[in-house]
Amino acid sequence: PPFPIRLRGPVQRGFGRGGKDLGCPTANLPDESITPISTVAKTGVYYGYAQVIPPKDGESRLRSEDTKVFPMVMSLGWNPFYKNERLTAEIHIMHEFQSDFYGLEMRAVVLGYIRPELDYISREALIDDINTDKRVALNSLNRPEYQKFARDPHFELES
Ligand code: ADP
Ligand code: MG
Repeated sequence: PPFPIRLRGPVQRGFGRGGKDLGCPTANLPDESITPISTVAKTGVYYGYAQVIPPKDGESRLRSEDTKVFPMVMSLGWNPFYKNERLTAEIHIMHEFQSDFYGLEMRAVVLGYIRPELDYISREALIDDINTDKRVALNSLNRPEYQKFARDPHFELES
């Protein structure tokens, strides 16, 4: 696929599959906003950068450090909730947030593919793999050619 792929949309509630309990919350993008990737990319795990945009007027419980650009891993997969007829993109941002950010705009620049979706015998096996994915993502993003994407014009950057 033609990386970088730029995505944006308000963060949607998922179906509480326990991401938070296992230390790996994943923020969901709405269907309409994943078209740029679902039409070109295969299912599996990707890496890149993501940012949560604070609301222009309203209150937000996020701290200013929560709205920086961070490395992320993204899972693109068929959603069992919709009988596997719909794709979903779920993004884990590599940062400890002060609070949830449902409803806020999330922007992402997807830079590469890590691996296909696998079937896991347990949630723990899945989490093990996610930890590997995070290391792969951080290693890849360390390359100088990728670091410029943390300052991509798609993001809101401090002046
Ligand atoms: P859901 O099923 O609603 O997606 P999760 O357990 O996957 O529930 O939690 C996702 C939510 O957690 C996100 O929508 C966001 O509001 C919050 N969140 C907190 N920290 C993170 C993070 N580091 N990455 C992604 N989402 C996070
Ligand atoms: Mg989730």
